[in-house]
Amino acid sequence: MSAITSLSNATVKAVRALHMRKERDETGLFVAEGLKNVIEGIDTGHAPQILLHGKDAADHPMMRKAVAATLGARGQVAEVTQDILAKVSRRDNPQAVVGVFRQAFAELADLDPKAATVWVALHRVRDPGNLGTIIRTADAAGCGAVILVGECCDPYSVEAVRATMGSIFAVSLVKATEAEFTAWRTSWPGSVVGTLLSATSDHRSADYRAPALVLMGNEQQGLTPDLAALCDVNVKIPMRGRADSLNLSVATGIMIYAAGG
Ligand code: SAM
Repeated sequence: MSAITSLSNATVKAVRALHMRKERDETGLFVAEGLKNVIEGIDTGHAPQILLHGKDAADHPMMRKAVAATLGARGQVAEVTQDILAKVSRRDNPQAVVGVFRQAFAELADLDPKAATVWVALHRVRDPGNLGTIIRTADAAGCGAVILVGECCDPYSVEAVRATMGSIFAVSLVKATEAEFTAWRTSWPGSVVGTLLSATSDHRSADYRAPALVLMGNEQQGLTPDLAALCDVNVKIPMRGRADSLNLSVATGIMIYAAGG
């Protein structure tokens, strides 16, 4: 264990660089903030590669576990200043513990449809807060995976990870191109239910034959005609007021539970 006080320390620079997607993509690493989230990672089999903590956090009973897991995986543990924690988190009021973990993406081909009754696919999701909230909801509802179709925002961005509240470690994540998803969907054994504002079917009357796969569209454009055509049925969640659509993460939550989550 060591103490770091300089912002120009190589480890501090490396952790700060993980705010950039390019750096996350190249290293395959990401940042999870807060002792609770770090412990969640450890409890689900992910040891931190780097563990930075403030002076006060050193005495927390769970820190011993976090430190042991990090050192056991040959990772680095360092006590850092409040200033460093703020810079690493880009927050004035940073969490007292920051962990750097390895990203984990599954492959479409490795998914076992029998493993869960509800699965989620998101087309070109753009907002990290929406994506993190959907991952958290998918975890709560026991979904098999969250499948990211096409160019999506990064589930391992600091903003998305924050919004998952620790569920980033618990949910299988898959990246697929539109072509890969289209080919893979043909062998899906259950219902594929798309969501369209122009649909005439009420989401409550759809056949969610397990394993049900719900397909959600982009925040601006909605579901593209090509992907809507892949679905067994497209449904709409009724809206009675003046809102012309629901927020993507809210709509996904409603669909996940309607599908049996
Ligand atoms: N302007 C977009 C459109 O025309 O579809 C709005 C997209 S909406 C903000 C983002 C996604 O949330 C949609 O593609 C759909 O998957 C889901 N969504 C939002 N409101 C919905 C509703 N009432 N019924 C079904 N899906 C909905």
